[in-house]
Amino acid sequence: MPGFELFSNLERNEVNDVLQSGVLMRYGFDGMRNGHWKAKELESELQNTLQSKHVQLVSSGTAAVSVALAAAGIGAGDEVIMPTFTFVASFEAIMMLGAIPILVDIDDTLGLNPEAVKQAITPKTKAIMVVQMCGSMANMDALQAISNKHNLLLIEDACQAIGGTYKGKPLGSIGDLGCFSFDFVKTITCGEGGAVITNNKAYYLNADHYSDHGHDHVGNDRGAETHPFLGYNFRISELHAAVGLAQVKRLPEFLAIQKKNYNILRDALSQIPEVNFRTVPDGGEESYAFLSFFLPDAEIANTISKAFNDNGVDACWNYYNNNWHYIRNWNHLKDLKSLYPISTEVKKGLEYLQTKTFEKSDHYISRNISCLIKLSWTEEEVKNRANTMVNIIRSALKA
Ligand SMILES: *Cc1c(COP(=O)(O)O)cnc(C)c1O
Repeated sequence: MPGFELFSNLERNEVNDVLQSGVLMRYGFDGMRNGHWKAKELESELQNTLQSKHVQLVSSGTAAVSVALAAAGIGAGDEVIMPTFTFVASFEAIMMLGAIPILVDIDDTLGLNPEAVKQAITPKTKAIMVVQMCGSMANMDALQAISNKHNLLLIEDACQAIGGTYKGKPLGSIGDLGCFSFDFVKTITCGEGGAVITNNKAYYLNADHYSDHGHDHVGNDRGAETHPFLGYNFRISELHAAVGLAQVKRLPEFLAIQKKNYNILRDALSQIPEVNFRTVPDGGEESYAFLSFFLPDAEIANTISKAFNDNGVDACWNYYNNNWHYIRNWNHLKDLKSLYPISTEVKKGLEYLQTKTFEKSDHYISRNISCLIKLSWTEEEVKNRANTMVNIIRSALKA
């Protein structure tokens, strides 16, 4: 996954363009910038890559989720349904708007369980936020049917899934709004950065203004701007966008490497009948950023995960005990540790986290291992890794 593994002169040249003009700001300074508009160029590249009418770059993936929600008018007291397996950013981005994250179980796709989503809908529910974890997707047809039926917004966090598709559509482009991260460890990196994509012009304009203090960006050199509403600063800089511009042009190359490496590992693990791969919904194609599989039980998964670590098979995770990606150890969030007071409504809305258990999610996450697919491996390294993994899994299953 991490695009930083293959930094080249392409990234350096784009960054140098920006440094030579000296304009690190994405808006304005029209006369000084030597015609360089890296953020604008990256937005237009992403429009093509993600087959989306509108793209708004922002400062991070977390900002992208908050901006997407705000652009669609989600705010105080609104409930947003999200999965138990994600990155803490999902929870944070909802909280930032004074909305209430409602966590629900996942299924064997490692994404939102549509039945659990149905059961969580209340009169306060405004949006379903699906998170396309580890390069693959939830059952999008089922989730789209639910969101249509109940008139809910469908927001897609595709931060870990750029390049994956569902029924021919890029992940991120299926919901009403899609979110991407270009942080340092993602497939395409800017260092820090993110994007909101949508086919809805009103949402796009909201995202454009909201992410830059409410400026409407009308007129050359910012001359005619007004401020239709309150906004904040979630801007990306030209330096960050320049890195991303070089990287996005290399996405097809990165995806091809991911797929090749993934298939070598998957073919090797397929020899072991006790290994079951995550379910990819019909019509879906992974981005191949991760290889995710289930072991027969939690104890074996834990043993294998430890043995991977001890034997140099790095970047493989059993998320059951992880405190970034899985609800079980999000104690600071369950206990609502906050530097500043949180509204009574949100506090009440989150009381369920003190008692609710997520057996279905535990069932899948405790038996799962997800391995990052690196771009910089040589063929020999992948083959050796495949052998080591097979040997470790076989001996754990025998014990
Ligand atoms: C990385 C990530 C984010 C947040 O992105 P940042 O750019 O690090 O803020 C959000 N959601 C998911 C699923 C992620 O993997």
